[in-house]
Amino acid sequence: MIMPEIYKETTVEAAKSPHQCCECQATIQPGDSYIRISGLWEGTWCNFKMCVPCRVLHTEIRSEYDYYAEEYPGPGGLREFCKNAEGGNELWEKTHGGVS
Ligand SMILES: [Zn+2]
Repeated sequence: MIMPEIYKETTVEAAKSPHQCCECQATIQPGDSYIRISGLWEGTWCNFKMCVPCRVLHTEIRSEYDYYAEEYPGPGGLREFCKNAEGGNELWEKTHGGVS
C-alpha cells in the first residue's frame, strides 16, 4: 500500500446512522461499534469506516504474516488480499463467519 503521511484511527462506540464497511461492504448498523479511519495519502484526505470483524482481521493478518508495508493491503484491499494470501480465506471466514 501507499503509506499515508498522516493516519488516524478512532473507535466509535455506537454508530448514529448506518455506514458501509470499506472492506467487506457490510452495513454497520446504528448502535454498532466501528472504526473510523482518516488519513492523508499523497496530499489527499480520505475517510473510511470499517466494521469490527475487519479490524480484527487486520490485526490477525499483522500477526499471522510478516508483510512489509508495501505489500500490506490498503483501505478497501483486504478482501482481495485474503483471496490471494495463503490461508487468507480461512482468516476471513474465522472473522466474518463464512465467505460471501
Ligand atoms: Zn467489514
